[in-house]
Amino acid sequence: MKPYKNKINRIRTFALSLIFIGVVIMYLGIFFRKNEIVMLIFMVLGMLAIIGSTVVYAWIGLLSTKAIQIACPNCGKQTKMLGRVDMCGHCREPLTTDPTLEGKEFDEAYNRPNRNNVDAKENSK
Ligand SMILES: [Zn+2]
Repeated sequence: MKPYKNKINRIRTFALSLIFIGVVIMYLGIFFRKNEIVMLIFMVLGMLAIIGSTVVYAWIGLLSTKAIQIACPNCGKQTKMLGRVDMCGHCREPLTTDPTLEGKEFDEAYNRPNRNNVDAKENSK
């Protein structure tokens, strides 16, 4: 099961990995020095990945202006949340601005290992 992450953090991770992918692709192009066309394709693909990450970073900037800054009820730190449900960027506490969604969208998160383990231990007793 994939652990949930704060949306902004997740997009930022994606943008960062795009830069790395771009650099790796361009680096691979060096191995095709003898074949100029192949090397050029690698270089262009690498450039596209890096340009793409720049676009994603700009998008994060836009999203951040729309994000609501709130204090996390669990750890007390300031975190930005996107949409109606999101996770705290520090402790992954599920957050929602809509009380009717409480416990719905993050069912999986509420059932995450610690709770399952507690249940399992109690059942085995
Ligand atoms: Zn928190």
